Amino acid sequence: MQTVVYDLDGALYINLTNRCDCACSFCVRRDHKGVGDHNLWLDHDPSTDEVLEALRQVNLEDYREVVFCGFGEPTYRLEQLKTVGAWLKAQGKRVRLNTNGHGELINNRRIAPELVGAVDVISVSLNMDNAKDYQMTVNSRYGELAFDAMLSFAKDCAKQGIDTCLSVVDVIGQGRVANCRKLAAKVGLPLRVRAYIPPETPEYASGTPGEE
Ligand code: SF4
Repeated sequence: MQTVVYDLDGALYINLTNRCDCACSFCVRRDHKGVGDHNLWLDHDPSTDEVLEALRQVNLEDYREVVFCGFGEPTYRLEQLKTVGAWLKAQGKRVRLNTNGHGELINNRRIAPELVGAVDVISVSLNMDNAKDYQMTVNSRYGELAFDAMLSFAKDCAKQGIDTCLSVVDVIGQGRVANCRKLAAKVGLPLRVRAYIPPETPEYASGTPGEE
C-alpha cells in the first residue's frame, strides 16, 4: 500500500505525487526511497478521495499542522491540493505548502489566487541567489526561466495575503546566503535560512524546507 500521508515530528505530511519538473542535485529521491520508515514512491497519484480517506484514518488533532510536501512537486496536483487544503482548513487545521515555486509554469496559468482558502503558509525554495546557478542546482525542465517564475509566484502568493516566505539552506555558503537576504528584501519577502537537514526528513526530500 502506498504512502499518501505520513507523520514526522508532530506534523502530518501529504505525498500527492512523484512528478517534478526538477532534478535537484540535492534531492533525496536520487538515492533514497523515502524519509524515515516511509517509502514515498507512489504506484499512482492518489485521487482526492484517496487522500481524504487517508486523512480520515488519522486523528488530525494529534498534529500541529498538515503540510503538502512529499516525493515530488505538489502543485502538479493543483486541483487535489485545493480541495484537500480547503477540507483541512474547514477542520480547523493549519495548512502549509512546501513548493519549488514553479506551479505557474507547471499549470500554465497564474495560480496564487487559487491557493487562497486552501493553504495558510507557503514556503518557496529559493535555493540560490541567481538564475544561472539556480538552474545548475535544480535542473528545471523550464531552464533559467524557472528562477524568475519562482520569485514571481512567491510575490503573488504574498500579495494574496498568504503567509509566504523564501528559504535557503546554509550549505550554500555565507556569501550566497547574504545575497539571498538582499534578494528576499528586494522582493519584499522574509527569508528563512535553515541548517542542512539530513535525509530522514521530508523537508530534505522536497528541497522545500519547512519553517516553524
Ligand atoms: S528536491 Fe524537490 S524540486 Fe528538487 S527534484 Fe526533488 S522533489 Fe523536485
